Amino acid sequence: MQAVATTLTAVRERLRPGKRAGAIPYIGRDNEPACRICSDTGWCRAEGEEFIGLKRCKCVKERIRAARLVEIPERFRESTFESYRPGNPKQEWALCQMLEDPDGSYYLTGSYGSGKTHLLYAQYRQMVLAGKIRCHVRTTRGLVEELRRAEFDDGFVSPVLAAASKPDPYRLFWDDLDKLKPADFKTEVLFDLVNSLYDHIHGLTVTANYSLRELIEHERMHPAIVRRLDDMCGVIAL
Ligand SMILES: [Zn+2]
Repeated sequence: MQAVATTLTAVRERLRPGKRAGAIPYIGRDNEPACRICSDTGWCRAEGEEFIGLKRCKCVKERIRAARLVEIPERFRESTFESYRPGNPKQEWALCQMLEDPDGSYYLTGSYGSGKTHLLYAQYRQMVLAGKIRCHVRTTRGLVEELRRAEFDDGFVSPVLAAASKPDPYRLFWDDLDKLKPADFKTEVLFDLVNSLYDHIHGLTVTANYSLRELIEHERMHPAIVRRLDDMCGVIAL
């Protein structure tokens, strides 16, 4: 008890009015905190002319950013717009389009090896680093697993569905959209997701081997969903 009292006194001493939270040393001995400003609590002291309160520590944004970047597969870790090497005029035009409007929504279509996934991750990386809007990146396999789990597990909330259904700015990056099989899940689940993105004017960038027309011809996706994709995304054929 005495030890606790000593610690509390020590902390109060360190929290003298006028002293910045950033200057408060961490009192733990065994585990050094990654952030010395907030001791990994995520909150730090904010002082204004007429108020004293708590604000989110800047390390929270940094941690979110790092977690989002880790989601880039090893193969595309270095994929940026600068490192993209167009091999033909179509690919050159694709790069120009995306550099001109790096916040645009795109349906990137082309054969294997055309660089569409490189461009998807380049845009994702740029947006994550800018830190202005919430972003998720999913392969079709990851998205199917997530949406299926949300359908059958009452205790699970899909991060993608949750973000898509809120008005706060959001963007989904979806790699290999046409790997989706009609049997993967109900059309309504997918339509709800795409429609939520559409209704809230969220961003969407996808890659696919098939063109939008081929998605319908090969019965990969319901025409209503393809129409939404067409409305939302600028088509870039590589
Ligand atoms: Zn911090």
